[in-house]
Amino acid sequence: MGPSTPIVRHYTIADFEIRGPLGKGNFGNVYMACHFIVALKVLFKSQIEKEGLEYQLRREIDIQAHLQRTHNILHLYNYFHDARRVYLILEYAPRGELYKELQNSHAFDEPRTATVMEELADALTYCHEKKVIHRNMKPEKLLLGLMGEVKMADFGWSVHTPFSRRKKMCGTLDYLPPEMIEGRIYNEKVDLWCLGVLCYELLVGNPPFESTSHSETYRHILKVDVRFPASIPLRAWDLISRLLRYQPSEQQPLAQVLKHPWVRAHSRRVLPPAAQMASLALSTPILL
Ligand code: AMP
Repeated sequence: MGPSTPIVRHYTIADFEIRGPLGKGNFGNVYMACHFIVALKVLFKSQIEKEGLEYQLRREIDIQAHLQRTHNILHLYNYFHDARRVYLILEYAPRGELYKELQNSHAFDEPRTATVMEELADALTYCHEKKVIHRNMKPEKLLLGLMGEVKMADFGWSVHTPFSRRKKMCGTLDYLPPEMIEGRIYNEKVDLWCLGVLCYELLVGNPPFESTSHSETYRHILKVDVRFPASIPLRAWDLISRLLRYQPSEQQPLAQVLKHPWVRAHSRRVLPPAAQMASLALSTPILL
């Protein structure tokens, strides 16, 4: 290998599942080998039609297909369909839902939570630049890569808003921001609110406005009535309270989340090598 050959990744034979032989050459043999594991999401057309979700699915595919260049957004490589089903070819997230790891450990420590905050603030910056609002970020919708890196998945509730601000109420009760509950016009700042709720839930083990009834939860959200346990570190408290603001205009912007002293002190984010990102970007083109 010459010195100018780019090293994409160090492979071993264990990275490949060897299938049948393809042929013999002068110096060795050629085999068919499988390398890329994907997650195949199989959706039944009849169920989608029954629920009237055709438009939502098209939107989910369209949005996710256009958010391909960041490490913390689950990649949609392509899709196809037959008479009964729609198949989404997705990046495989080997560690599954963040929610399960949170349940197992009850709460995360500061480094893990700060790392998730940095990863998501970065992924959301990219989404918002593309005029996409996620609207439904919660531990059940976040998947984990091999090294525990977060993969924002499920763009079923996300929306592309090139021009307008929105009014439709959606998302999960515990993560709903005041402007959505009150039916006010909202914008991409709803994702900042969710980031604040998530930060609290990861550190404490339950979301800040959780209550015995829906009306109680709504009431707590509208009053931004957050009880911080004594165990919450002061600087994390500072970050959360800058994100959970009744007035979206008063929320800390994403750039400031990335620079926040608590995030900077505790995040252990590891970025993949640039070459690996390039090979991801070159994967099967999406044809929409
Ligand atoms: P969904 O229908 O997208 O909510 O997915 C149902 C469940 O399948 C998720 O909660 C995950 O546990 C699992 N799952 C979905 N997509 C993936 C993926 N890309 N990699 C690994 N597990 C996944």
